[in-house]
Amino acid sequence: MKSSDYETLVSEILACEKCPLSRSRTRAVPGEGSLDSIIMFVGEAPGKSEDEQGRPFVGAAGKLLNTLLESIGLERGGVYITNVVKCRPPENREPEEPEVRACNPYLVRQLNIVNPKIVVALGRIAGKTLYEMCGLKWHNMRVARREVVKCRVGEASFKLVATYHPAAALYNPGLREELEEDFRERIAKVASQVGGKTKTLEDFLLRGKKEPTTSQEG
Ligand code: SF4
Repeated sequence: MKSSDYETLVSEILACEKCPLSRSRTRAVPGEGSLDSIIMFVGEAPGKSEDEQGRPFVGAAGKLLNTLLESIGLERGGVYITNVVKCRPPENREPEEPEVRACNPYLVRQLNIVNPKIVVALGRIAGKTLYEMCGLKWHNMRVARREVVKCRVGEASFKLVATYHPAAALYNPGLREELEEDFRERIAKVASQVGGKTKTLEDFLLRGKKEPTTSQEG
């Protein structure tokens, strides 16, 4: 049921023409990863490499995300990764409000299919979108980085953590340390607190005990 719902959703996204981004994209990028993951990562929008390959976070920012995941004992294939909008905005501009609104039902369905315990918003656009989906007021990243908020979207109930987009840390090395700290101090801790019974989390906790990890350049 879960996988057939997901296949239907992916087909709809790949054929979607609900906003003008459908005219400039090479291909839509629905998302990828484990549908049983307790953690979902949500970025802003596909970039050039993602648009070419049809996969999320495969460029330089994606390499950094992989490194950050590994730094807390998570494998990329064990989490679910997507973006607020599924098609690349021209010249990598920020997605506009009407585009975010048009694409939002897909994110709602992804949240309800994967049903994660934790959602990590990567960057301001993802943070603002997810806060508002949860009926919360978005102030700024500085405020959001101090909190973990409880959210419900449809049947999905999860803890929401916002941090910088990995691309921001590529352009501003000063943010890299804060991003690594958020993965280590906030995301990993919330993951261990949810204490679910899913295989993914058990694997994560066991690995964390056996293999102390460090962050490193990817
Ligand atoms: S960004 Fe979303 S709403 Fe717009 S065309 Fe792509 S899939 Fe459809």
